Amino acid sequence: MLEALQSPAQTTYWLISGRVLFLIINLLGLACFAYIVTKRLTPLIRGERDFRFDRPWTRLERLLQFWLGQWKHPRYRTAGIIHILIFSGFILLATRAFSLLILGISENFALPDSAGGIGRVYEIVADYAATIVFLCMVIAAARRIVFKPARYEVPAKYGDGHKVDAIFLLALIAFLMLSESLFEASKAASLAQQGQTEFLASFSLAWILQSALSSVSQSNLWNIHRGAYLLDVLTFYFLLCYRPFGIQFHVETSLFNVYFAKLDRGTVKPVRWDVSDEHLDQVKSFGVKTFEDFTWKHMLDFYSCADCGRCSDNCPANAVGRPLSPRFITIKARDYSFQHYPMFGPSGNGTPLVGGIYSEDEIWSCTTCGACEEECPLLIEYIDKIVDLRRGLVDDGNVPKSIQKALKALESRGNPYGKMEKKKADWAKDKEFQPTCDVKILGGAKTADTLYFVDSITSYDDRMQAIGRATAKILDHVGENFGILGPAEKDSGHEVRRFGEETLFMALRDHNVEAIKASGVQRIVTADPHAYNALKHDYKDVPPVEHISQVIAREVKSGNIKLNPVENADDVYTYHDPCYLGRHNQVYDDPRDVLDAIPGLKRVEMSRYRDRSFCCGGGGLMLFYEPKEEQRMGVKRVQMAAEAGANVIVTACPFCMVNMEDAIKVAGMEGKLTAIDLTELVDKHIARETKETERAEQFAESGKCLTV
Ligand code: SF4
Ligand code: SF4
Repeated sequence: MLEALQSPAQTTYWLISGRVLFLIINLLGLACFAYIVTKRLTPLIRGERDFRFDRPWTRLERLLQFWLGQWKHPRYRTAGIIHILIFSGFILLATRAFSLLILGISENFALPDSAGGIGRVYEIVADYAATIVFLCMVIAAARRIVFKPARYEVPAKYGDGHKVDAIFLLALIAFLMLSESLFEASKAASLAQQGQTEFLASFSLAWILQSALSSVSQSNLWNIHRGAYLLDVLTFYFLLCYRPFGIQFHVETSLFNVYFAKLDRGTVKPVRWDVSDEHLDQVKSFGVKTFEDFTWKHMLDFYSCADCGRCSDNCPANAVGRPLSPRFITIKARDYSFQHYPMFGPSGNGTPLVGGIYSEDEIWSCTTCGACEEECPLLIEYIDKIVDLRRGLVDDGNVPKSIQKALKALESRGNPYGKMEKKKADWAKDKEFQPTCDVKILGGAKTADTLYFVDSITSYDDRMQAIGRATAKILDHVGENFGILGPAEKDSGHEVRRFGEETLFMALRDHNVEAIKASGVQRIVTADPHAYNALKHDYKDVPPVEHISQVIAREVKSGNIKLNPVENADDVYTYHDPCYLGRHNQVYDDPRDVLDAIPGLKRVEMSRYRDRSFCCGGGGLMLFYEPKEEQRMGVKRVQMAAEAGANVIVTACPFCMVNMEDAIKVAGMEGKLTAIDLTELVDKHIARETKETERAEQFAESGKCLTV
């Protein structure tokens, strides 16, 4: 009878003492795991450097928020809740799993206070945790096998391997929970038959199993107890050693991946972390060409992907049928790594990635919108990897033909259109505009406090010049002492950098930095989110920069801008968040506050808004690239606006404006939907007469002009 209470360490299995057997299993299991992890670390050691050891407190904070707090998971409610339950279950069960393993080699092992109140409470919590994890595994498997959300789907060309792997791992975890509960239940059933009580949490898996075993004989209970323990230990180590071969490796790597995640939005990694810009000419090869050119952190990203499909589900390129799915950027690299860094035999062969696992179109299809990174619960990065792969292509001269012309024009004329530098400020010389607002071109004796950085598209595109004029009028209205660089301003180079042409970007940046410094301005304003992002994150040593929507919002709040009511109260407006204003720089509220300050303006949100905004189709050089796609991103976006019930789509970016107006035509929505820039809308609604009256009143009172 007493045998049933014995620890596995005291029993024998096939004439081997339990203590010896479990000592061997533990040692073997740990040795195997250590070997596998060492092998998995080999490419990371060979990978490029990546500087991720700064700001430890910020990293710790983010670890608590995104890893321990599972911050991003509820963005997909059902899957998120399931994951949070599984994650919490794992954390809670870690202590029990550890003590169970030790029990096989030391029958007297007990955690502090395990027989006391805390221990009993912990056992109840652990019983429920095991039950919840078991049920979550069943639900997760059903989702993958029966309900099949589209984001889990794996295209036929990748075979069934990933799906089978995911389901097999779910089954293994469920089996682990079952064996652990059976071990407990058999002991409790045995004790119950002897008139003793072992408390199990009511309706837990262990409790249900105990009830089922209540009439089983003592000898069979004893065998079940011993067998369950053996199975539990074997499953534990099998799972531990199998996880690094598939998507469950994230259980081990996610903590490190989140801790070392990128901290700064809107930035692009340097070509080499250990080479300064001044020494880049000594770098033999730019970008990522082979797997080993990825940084160790980017390789860790590949290991950490949980294959949840959220990135691709939000990727606009994927949505319109471009040959890009961020999830498969990761999966293909991970498969490559597993294949070329095998457990036995030689590793790594340095074969080119583009043309091997990736296609050129796939790499050029990305708009760097950031939707994938925003969504990923494990903070996996894509933009830097794609930019690095592009740098590799550019370095080898593999640039799409349509882009080559734009790049050459940028090199020779400083703008992608190949227009003359002297025409850069022509937009400000418009006959109707100039008498109302004389825009200063800085240089020589002409100085100003504020620089309006216009950038190429607003300077040269006939339609977008209206945004330039509206911006200038607003700055003038609020009394800003501003000017422009005119011919001295070159393209900000924002897209050039994201396109992988780092050397050209550096030349454009250095020219602009010099011109900005020479102008003596104290601050910069721009109406172009791409220029805003470049000046804020890619440039060094320039005055602080603001997007015009931030300036307008502030001036509206202070009362310096007063707005007239909308002319047509039946119009319904919706705001489209430009990627480089919203996701990359977190400016979501200012443009909305401005719209809401226009009396009578009705505003609705589209199904995808703020950090889930849907890219219009890519700014900058993407305007010159013709990707393979089933539908234009802009068309999808204007359809979303129409579905939301809007007939006016407002944006705050000239590139979005080009794409929206084009999409309205392509979608046949002319007359039903119009697009307008925030600056144009504000300029149209500014109550200028109020200010003029105030000016006249002040002049009458003091004899001086109103200073604003
Ligand atoms: S940045 Fe945007 S376009 Fe590029 S992979 Fe991510 S979601 Fe897709
Ligand atoms: S990269 Fe992130 S979002 Fe995409 S499948 Fe992997 S874990 Fe999910």
